[in-house]
Amino acid sequence: MIVYLSLGANLGNREQSIDTAIELLTQQAGPLIKRSSFFYSKPWGFDSPNDFCNICAAFDTDLSPLELLRTTQSIERQLGRTAKTATAQNSLPLYSDRTIDIDILLYGDLHMDTPELTIPHKNMEKREFVMLPLQEIAPHLPFFAEK
Ligand code: ADP
Ligand code: MG
Repeated sequence: MIVYLSLGANLGNREQSIDTAIELLTQQAGPLIKRSSFFYSKPWGFDSPNDFCNICAAFDTDLSPLELLRTTQSIERQLGRTAKTATAQNSLPLYSDRTIDIDILLYGDLHMDTPELTIPHKNMEKREFVMLPLQEIAPHLPFFAEK
């Protein structure tokens, strides 16, 4: 199955964390098909002096969606991401700095919505730091069709 992932970092050596995550993903999820260049942006949804570096990457994986989530989460832990995004009393997410965040954007044509995993990723279309790198590697996707 062809899957598209978003990788982002805003702490430490961001490009190196992303490169290492890509390497671990090829070992644990399957071969890399394509990766975008690095895109830089201000933090989205929270205040921080540390800008983000983001890419999108496509892999060919035999893992199920949940197996892929377990794999991306274990790589996040391995690369030193400590805190998960907490939830405030108003139930909005409290985003924070992170050495690496790996999100599953698309898993083939699959649509799923469970408490653990929503595919396509919620809000991806609103986020330039996701859509610009995605367009670079997958301009054929329906999101980018001329209206
Ligand atoms: P965020 O990426 O929004 O900063 P986290 O990386 O801490 O937040 O993820 C919060 C939760 O989002 C995870 O525990 C995971 O179960 C859930 N989640 C739902 N859909 C997805 C997806 N498509 N990719 C990655 N995580 C997802
Ligand atoms: Mg995440």
